[in-house]
Amino acid sequence: MPKRIEEMPIESVKMELPDTKTIRLKWPDDYDVPFKTGQFITLYWPDTPRYKRAYSLSSCVLDQGHFEVTIKREGKMGTRLVDWAKEGDTLFVIPPTGRFLPVLEDDKHLICIAGGSGVTPYRGFVREATRTGRKTKITVLYSVRTTNDIIFEDEFRELEKENPHFRFLVTCTRLAADDPWTGRRGRIDAAWIREHIVELPQSYFYACGPTALVEATEKLVLEELQLPKEQLRLEKWG
Ligand SMILES: Cc1cc2nc3c(=O)[nH]c(=O)nc-3n(C[C@H](O)[C@H](O)[C@H](O)COP(=O)(O)OP(=O)(O)OC[C@H]3O[C@@H](n4cnc5c(N)ncnc54)[C@H](O)[C@@H]3O)c2cc1C
Repeated sequence: MPKRIEEMPIESVKMELPDTKTIRLKWPDDYDVPFKTGQFITLYWPDTPRYKRAYSLSSCVLDQGHFEVTIKREGKMGTRLVDWAKEGDTLFVIPPTGRFLPVLEDDKHLICIAGGSGVTPYRGFVREATRTGRKTKITVLYSVRTTNDIIFEDEFRELEKENPHFRFLVTCTRLAADDPWTGRRGRIDAAWIREHIVELPQSYFYACGPTALVEATEKLVLEELQLPKEQLRLEKWG
């Protein structure tokens, strides 16, 4: 069946951080394209149809009537979307696809590793698990430069209160020595990941974001921790 490509109006935009914006795209009334939490859509502007870029859904399958994507101001498309996309503009949307899917089964533990904007699909994972009352354990291990760079902090903290199976753990890599942050500092390393593994056979490891970061995590998980490849899910943005 041919893909149903639709021109969708931007219903709203929200600046999550000074360089990161969430765009909500409104579905047409009869839009019934099947999709799953964790997939990505491909966008292009009506005036440049040949320039297409993929964006992970930051909303989940239960958020009907619209798609949300969260974009960092980086590169040509990222800069145009963050600086210029506004309510009422339209974008063409190629339907969701992809295999970066959360295994939302009650006895599973998803260890979701991200740096910077790579955290976007995990909002969808946790939203779906929380709203459906799943007992799936989800631990997000999130690396940012400073506390000013944490995307979705308020929503993740709220979800932590609602969902006893979810933890949102942040590590800061470039804080000033006298910063009052009492949480973890430094990069994500093998020891920090290992600390959160409860039962290895039930654990799935996810890594998402710019290629270099995802490949570093892949190396860490496969070589340093020697965890099974079948339990690793990667989404490379490069
Ligand atoms: C499956 C998938 C999901 C994705 N999901 C998201 C998402 O949820 N959020 C998100 O923000 N992005 C996401 N991306 C990345 C996104 O598709 C774009 O690649 C990104 O917005 C950059 O836009 P661009 O490709 O037009 O950049 P380009 O202009 O083609 O540049 C490509 C890369 O080169 C770098 N670059 C460009 N110019 C320079 C320069 N002068 N100096 C140094 N570096 C430079 C850019 O930073 C960029 O990373 C995803 C990609 C994939 C494949």
